[in-house]
Amino acid sequence: MELLSETQETYTGPKPGSPEQIQAITGELRRLYPHAKCSLDFSNPLELLVATQLSAQCTDERVNLVTRDLFKKYRSAEDYATVSQEELEQDIRSTGFYRNKAKNIRAACQLLITNFHGEVPDTMTDLLKLPGVARKTANVVLGNAFGIVEGFVVDTHIGRLARRFGWTKNEDPIKVEQDLMRLVPRQDWLDLSHLLIFHGRAICQARKPLCKQCTLTKLCPSAFHFNQ
Ligand code: SF4
Repeated sequence: MELLSETQETYTGPKPGSPEQIQAITGELRRLYPHAKCSLDFSNPLELLVATQLSAQCTDERVNLVTRDLFKKYRSAEDYATVSQEELEQDIRSTGFYRNKAKNIRAACQLLITNFHGEVPDTMTDLLKLPGVARKTANVVLGNAFGIVEGFVVDTHIGRLARRFGWTKNEDPIKVEQDLMRLVPRQDWLDLSHLLIFHGRAICQARKPLCKQCTLTKLCPSAFHFNQ
């Protein structure tokens, strides 16, 4: 492992966004995080749909704590659709924004019953019909519960790292996703989304990226561009 000890003033690595840079970063991230995967606990598509909705503005650890009991109590779309708003709010309260999350989960499950025989659909078009489900949630569910990759998951870690690597200049997740889909080979979309999240949590953190500990400095045009 080679670490740069001095500030990297000028980036001299492969062109940001080039296949060479993306391949090298992906390879190094695979070496660093060989077991990277979705860190939400689930055993079926409905559980992953609910867990992903709960994960907005909340850590996956907290969501997993809450869903450990939640998934014992609620086993079907009907269970969520028929519980009172107040009761579901209490059951998910510690994930934050619980009123809105409870409202969306109940409404989504009501729609699952009405339109999809109580099952989570496995297409982007149908998933996007569910209240509270945008492309990020749909991509998470499709990729991790069904093994179908239609897009690139873009959460706050992935957007931040994509900008630091020079893969996008956009802030809007939809535009970031389009840039990533254009640059990254499709077979890497799901894998790389997990890898970027792991690196964003461990090293390339939002406020203070740990460039001195990072093994990607020679591939990253943003290395040492932060006050450390
Ligand atoms: S920690 Fe620094 S060098 Fe590593 S990916 Fe983030 S900005 Fe680049």
